[in-house]
Amino acid sequence: MEWLAGLDTFLFDLDGTLTMPVIDFPALRRALNVAPGQSILHALDALPAQERAAKDEIVRQAEMEAAHKTRPNKGALELVRFLQQRGFSTAVITRNNAKACKLTLELLGLEFPVVLAREHVKRVKPAPDAVLQALELLRRPAGSAMMVGDWHDDISSGRLAGASTCLVTNGHEIGPSEADLVVETPHHLHAHLSLHLA
Ligand SMILES: [Mg+2]
Repeated sequence: MEWLAGLDTFLFDLDGTLTMPVIDFPALRRALNVAPGQSILHALDALPAQERAAKDEIVRQAEMEAAHKTRPNKGALELVRFLQQRGFSTAVITRNNAKACKLTLELLGLEFPVVLAREHVKRVKPAPDAVLQALELLRRPAGSAMMVGDWHDDISSGRLAGASTCLVTNGHEIGPSEADLVVETPHHLHAHLSLHLA
């Protein structure tokens, strides 16, 4: 894993990556009448404006409730502080809404120079838009960046942008991944990076 030594930029998904997953997505899907496996945001995009606005509000409420219950994922705070203390570039890229994202980061006690929520990008993950936008804002190339996330869409967005990728499984079996590195928790990523980063 020598290639880890070439990294200087770390882009993090928020929910389920820096935080313990708390949103009950199956329950939310039932409330919104969105089929299992279908993207909630994409399903809502396809609705007529009025129905979409009503359901968007249900999503926002669920996100705010979850934000109030935020708990850091195992080793997440230590990992981010380790990277920031060494002067590496960091960002958060989330499909969550900007207000819930801000509250979550406040409760975690973390600050990032770049935070992109779904309102900030035209196409959310798995599109590479947010990753490319974050790299531009940080003035860093994709070649020395790693996108870290707990879902396939995080990995796809990083790969499409030309960054390396790390999947955080949280101990779940989530099928084969194209990620360059697969770890159980941020704690394990921290352990790998401590060995290889200067
Ligand atoms: Mg996530």
